[in-house]
Amino acid sequence: MCHTIPFKAGTAPVENSIVASQQLFSGFDPKRRTHIVTVRWRDHVVTIGGGAPIRVQSMTSTDTADAVGTAIQIKELAQAGSELVRITINKPEAAAAVLKIREQLDRMSINVPLIGDFHYNGHLLLRDYPDCAQALSKYRINPGNVGQGAKRSTQFAQMIETAIFYNKPVRIGVNWGSLDQDLLARMMDENSRRVTPWNPSSVMYEALIQSAISSAEHAVKLGLGRDRIVLSCKVSGVQDLISIYRALAMRCSFALHLGLTEAGIGSKGIIASAASMSVLLQQGIGDTIRVSITPEPEDLRTGEVIVAQEILQTMGLRSFMPMVIACPGCGRTTSIVFQKLASRIQNYLRKQMLVWRKQYPGVEMMNVAVMGCIVNGPGESKHANIGISLPGTGENPAAPVFIDGVKTTTLRGALIVEQFQEIVNDYVHRTYGVTVTS
Ligand code: SF4
Repeated sequence: MCHTIPFKAGTAPVENSIVASQQLFSGFDPKRRTHIVTVRWRDHVVTIGGGAPIRVQSMTSTDTADAVGTAIQIKELAQAGSELVRITINKPEAAAAVLKIREQLDRMSINVPLIGDFHYNGHLLLRDYPDCAQALSKYRINPGNVGQGAKRSTQFAQMIETAIFYNKPVRIGVNWGSLDQDLLARMMDENSRRVTPWNPSSVMYEALIQSAISSAEHAVKLGLGRDRIVLSCKVSGVQDLISIYRALAMRCSFALHLGLTEAGIGSKGIIASAASMSVLLQQGIGDTIRVSITPEPEDLRTGEVIVAQEILQTMGLRSFMPMVIACPGCGRTTSIVFQKLASRIQNYLRKQMLVWRKQYPGVEMMNVAVMGCIVNGPGESKHANIGISLPGTGENPAAPVFIDGVKTTTLRGALIVEQFQEIVNDYVHRTYGVTVTS
């Protein structure tokens, strides 16, 4: 029971002293237990759920019939860190290109598993293009787009039987833009007969969840293992996504693919994705994520991979690359040197990770601080593996550098950026280089 205790001037409120005497905990809710789904291409295995790290996936934007262009984009996404890549398979020319894409990737030693995204005609394409069915590592099936009326069940079954035949896992991916309209109409009718009808959003949530779970159970009855199924229920509203996935997580044990669909362009898409997914990830919900942002015209497709990684890394769920901690700058900042330095170091570290990932195991855990003045600069820099505190207004034009909490040098002059980068390189080599002994 909570009650107010009068506050006496000059003493701390009793509630405060009670709070201070309790140990404070931080961390995640326990991870939701799921079946573990294995996705493979030859010897390369990516596991989803069942305690595996939360996987990052992405989707190409090329015409899949353009095998060369698609293979190049898949390579870029994979090198950026996408652990699975989904491609659209919407027409015979696209299905015919899948084997060529796979072969080109194999020649480039890009072993990322490919997921085929099917709507409307997937049952026909998988039947008519066995090479495509075999070269894919996983199929995405949208129960709302597998056919109308009586054909829905037959065509869904055809796709599941193909998955069983080729030993491929599937994602049963429901999306509210393509929700099974027969199911929704039936549920709306049932709702109107309730003594107290639910609000329309709740009926929509329930329809999405039922579509996903009943389709998955149908697939299980057809013979597909529970460990061959990933579920998703994507919507474009943050609160809607959180509500739906919380319910979905309680009502099944399938691995879950998390993503806010049609999240939007620029910072809106990034923030909406991060806001919705972070709440669910904190609660232990979600086994693989995809960030569905619309790139700005000048942006690279790999941006969605970087955002997905940054969501997981900033939450402390995974580490992909060294983190740059930078202050925002304020009236004490004398120039944009610190912005340039933070930006350059961040880009440099990301680029280097292509090589460093193999050469310097553990480097992805490194923190680098780039700070604008003495107020928080030395303190924040001491907490990082390497930190630099640039001079603010009225300070000596000197930038102390801290390594593992100890001030080691001071940089001055026009070459601070280059010199700091050298210090970072040297630290990485000394700290994470693997010594080979004979
Ligand atoms: S560290 Fe200095 S420059 Fe950066 S925000 Fe804080 S006070 Fe401003």
